[in-house]
Amino acid sequence: MKLSELYTKTSKTVPADEPSRNAQLLIKAGFIHKEMAGVYSYHPLGKRVLDNIEQIVREEMNAIGGLEIRMSVLQPKEIWEKTNRWDDAVVDNWFKTRLKSGHELGVGLTHEEPITASLIPFISSYKDLPAFPYQIQTKFRNELRARSGLMRGREFLMKDLYSFCRDQAQHDSFYEKAAEAYMKVYQRLGIGDFTYRTYADGGYFTQKFSDEFQTLSEIGEDIIYLDEHKKIAVNKEIYRPDILQKLGLKKEDLVEKRAVEVGNIFPLESKYPDELGLNYLDEQGNKQSVVMGSYGIGISRLMGLIAEHFADSKGLVWPKSVAPALVYLIRIDDEDEIVKQADELYRQLKNEGFDVLYDDRNIRAGEKFADADLMGIPYRIVISKNTVAQGVVELKERTSDEVKSVQFTDISNQLAR
Ligand code: ATP
Ligand code: MG
Repeated sequence: MKLSELYTKTSKTVPADEPSRNAQLLIKAGFIHKEMAGVYSYHPLGKRVLDNIEQIVREEMNAIGGLEIRMSVLQPKEIWEKTNRWDDAVVDNWFKTRLKSGHELGVGLTHEEPITASLIPFISSYKDLPAFPYQIQTKFRNELRARSGLMRGREFLMKDLYSFCRDQAQHDSFYEKAAEAYMKVYQRLGIGDFTYRTYADGGYFTQKFSDEFQTLSEIGEDIIYLDEHKKIAVNKEIYRPDILQKLGLKKEDLVEKRAVEVGNIFPLESKYPDELGLNYLDEQGNKQSVVMGSYGIGISRLMGLIAEHFADSKGLVWPKSVAPALVYLIRIDDEDEIVKQADELYRQLKNEGFDVLYDDRNIRAGEKFADADLMGIPYRIVISKNTVAQGVVELKERTSDEVKSVQFTDISNQLAR
């Protein structure tokens, strides 16, 4: 992409009405726009980051047999009444709306009920199981506080997968596979080394735990107790002597840490399938309960976390796997010969499959350098009268101060994707 063709602009000032650092940085860099508290729009560079995260999640869900779907956002209240989750006293963050007739509707905040109900026409026999549908979709939650930017939105992007299995053993085996796939996602996003599977409350109807995936970060809202040796953690909400004993963890081995919940997986047993009437016939023709699980990943929360966690005093610092481009190409001087060489280098890198932001604007060099840093692009290449005279370009990584002179012919070898 040529920056002369990009309509967004960076700004030096922090918007006064935005308390969160991730949103401040992303707004300054022109990646997002704040519509209201907890609600953001994604402009081209922000959309690219979100898409990159989404695609990593999609690939790992496909790899464990997930089948991508798209559920409706508008929800009939009747199915939520069947599981007692319509009442605001039970679920306190619904957005609800009404038809012209006055009939109430829900705006999707999660999809256990509708996905279960919508499988009823398809699943009748043990042969139809297991099923692993998932979607990547905007969710709506009327969160009390929305001061953490993308990390707690009232409208946010989530991946939600649901597993439907014929028995507990089939469920358990998928559940573990999903947990492994989650860790692969976090590894690929550059946060795997400080993201931990964390025991958490399983919900009111089961004795089981749920598993959260918690990324250590000072900006987190959650407190966890981590056994660094075993690489297991417990959420503060269930940090009690009886639970620690049950998990074989010792209080003295645990350290208290702040963390961000980047994913959450739940064994749901047969509650929703039973209440909504999804069941199957086994080999003997006996009616059986379906065993369900749900698996969420906060895609936009991940973007906010990654933005804020890695940022430095100059701006964003994206891991390569999610950066909106790999290379920020700066052209200094606008003599015809320099323009020609820079255009040629841009074309060459694009042809070799590198994502390049080409700063071909007629602005001061200092502004280009500042934007390259603010936008957090992993590599910066500078081409100028000086470098061209020596037959080289200057290459610098966003995370290092070292500037290397690189021969034209060697540039692509120096760019690790
Ligand atoms: P939290 O405990 O942070 O409120 P949750 O337990 O309600 O989240 P789930 O319903 O399990 O979250 O949703 C799956 C994932 O979606 C969470 O692990 C989190 O990463 C993300 N998520 C949840 N709520 C929000 C939100 N308001 N904004 C952005 N991401 C969210
Ligand atoms: Mg939670």
